[in-house]
Amino acid sequence: MKVAGSTYDELVALRSKTVFERAKLAAASGDRSRLDMTAAHVLSLLERFPALYREAWVTPSNKASRFACDGFEISDGWAGLVDRLSARLSADPSCHVWQLKEKFGRLAVYFDDDESVPRDPRLDAEMETALDEAADESMRTCEVCGEPGTRDKRGYLVGVRCGPCEQLDEISATCKSIAERLEGMDLAAFAASEFVQDAIRMELLCLGHAAACQPPASRARLPGIGWERLEQFKEARAIKGIPVEELWRFASEEALVLGRKLR
Ligand SMILES: [Zn+2]
Repeated sequence: MKVAGSTYDELVALRSKTVFERAKLAAASGDRSRLDMTAAHVLSLLERFPALYREAWVTPSNKASRFACDGFEISDGWAGLVDRLSARLSADPSCHVWQLKEKFGRLAVYFDDDESVPRDPRLDAEMETALDEAADESMRTCEVCGEPGTRDKRGYLVGVRCGPCEQLDEISATCKSIAERLEGMDLAAFAASEFVQDAIRMELLCLGHAAACQPPASRARLPGIGWERLEQFKEARAIKGIPVEELWRFASEEALVLGRKLR
């Protein structure tokens, strides 16, 4: 659960809050990355399974609360399977989870047994099965949207994505590449370099194809993106006809905003 803090003092203040308080702040701000779990999902888990996530209410005191830093390092796509897993783990009153994260494209759950709480040792097998089944399901569930996905190496990282979400990553990477290509350039330098213009036109073609792959559900999840306009870029002819000034404006302004929206 990340909440943006703009100054060092704000970040320190955030660190002193419980995960529950931070989730409430995040829910109010609405500011999140595409790869963070929506605060409403986090709050729902914390409120419905308070004993399982008991550390989420603990005020962090240095090393005392491991949950306080990054309790839910997963995206929305796994919210459903984590919900079902939480219900199964709650059968053991001594179990308390202190972190859930994506690790090598697989759900990893870190938990402890509270020895002061009496428990039935016959629960061990059920707990183990629940954890194994959730981990197996995570490896075939898109981390971003929850649709069936494949686990693969993506760049330096292993992750699980469905086809359209993989294309969203592609859009994000293309926007980053556009920004790097234009670094230190102004309109005059851009207008003088046909090589850079052609390279940007090729990047736009990639954006157009990736946008065309997005189903209605994916477009609805990211409403602030001009999907129809982006999709026009899949036509090489349309891209060729874009005047240099307009190409510059898109690459130097709109692509930056688009990249930020797909963080
Ligand atoms: Zn997906």
